[in-house]
Amino acid sequence: MRIRKKLKQALRHFHVTRVLLSRLFFTQYPLLAHLIPMRRCNLSCAYCNEYDNFSQPVPLEEMYKRVDKLAALGTKIITISGGEPLLHPNLELIIRRIRSHGMIAGLISNCYLMTPERIRSLNKAGLEFLQVSIDNVIPDEVSKKSLKVLDSKLVNLQRHAEFGVNINSVIGGGIANPEDALVVARRAVELGFTTSLGVIHDGHGTLKPLNELEQRVQHAMRLLGKKSYARIHKFQDNLSQGKPNEWRCRAGARYLYVCEEGLVHYCSQQRGYPAIPLQQYSFEDLRREYFTKKACAPFCTVACVHQVATLDNWRDPQHIDPIAVPSPQPSLQPGGMGEPARA
Ligand code: SF4
Ligand code: SF4
Repeated sequence: MRIRKKLKQALRHFHVTRVLLSRLFFTQYPLLAHLIPMRRCNLSCAYCNEYDNFSQPVPLEEMYKRVDKLAALGTKIITISGGEPLLHPNLELIIRRIRSHGMIAGLISNCYLMTPERIRSLNKAGLEFLQVSIDNVIPDEVSKKSLKVLDSKLVNLQRHAEFGVNINSVIGGGIANPEDALVVARRAVELGFTTSLGVIHDGHGTLKPLNELEQRVQHAMRLLGKKSYARIHKFQDNLSQGKPNEWRCRAGARYLYVCEEGLVHYCSQQRGYPAIPLQQYSFEDLRREYFTKKACAPFCTVACVHQVATLDNWRDPQHIDPIAVPSPQPSLQPGGMGEPARA
């Protein structure tokens, strides 16, 4: 089992390197897409604006068409997000379809429904990355995504998962104990997982600078990250001090967010722009958005889009004026390349 896991890890790294190289020189194609197969979630985190408690899964045939279209646009990584994707009855078939196109398949889940059988079934389907966000040590009224509840799931993942697992912990917003992020990250490292740190907006949609304790936790995470290969993002330093970032958001071009209705949006926090049906999304749309400035960029915390942007930040200045988009909505914004946004 250990050798098999190592082999899969090596293949994964090779696949990621090949994908990044293939998209480095071809800016006309997307690198990463988030795909939502259902909006319903089995939890109701207080800060979250990305779930409901009633919607039905998107039918499998429709999901196949969306995966195929993303492949036709040249997308290289698809991360399935939600809501809670483990509630989708055909999740493994969707992952197989992604892999059948040679794309990298990632998943964001709260892991409440993750059993050893489900992990084995995700192994077989070809899942390559899983991201789990853990918000606190003990569940409270803000979030039930707690180490206390999820630790046994993490142990199962350590035993059975052949895919990469990243544990995201969070600070800012309504999280009561910033030190919890460190406890979560240390446990993740102990289990052999990678870790990352997300920053949450405050409850009014504006970014609140981190307080002294939160900044200390962020610094400690950075030191831990050196040992665990965690990706602590430079842009977070500015945000945590309330300073803007200068960068070129390539949402709608190099990064796509496809909602449960099959519409392409900039990201989870800018749903409604440009809101074009994926099946009609064209190379002209990709090109236009590549060169469109995004007014919300300076205080944006969407980590996966920042990461994608690093491929192109050094070239192709954006010359198309932004349409009026509001500030990012209050929400959790962790994530990373291949293990994006939230859950
Ligand atoms: S919120 Fe961030 S990722 Fe989304 S469109 Fe604005 S700048 Fe881009
Ligand atoms: S953050 Fe994730 S787990 Fe929590 S309500 Fe939103 S979708 Fe569900």
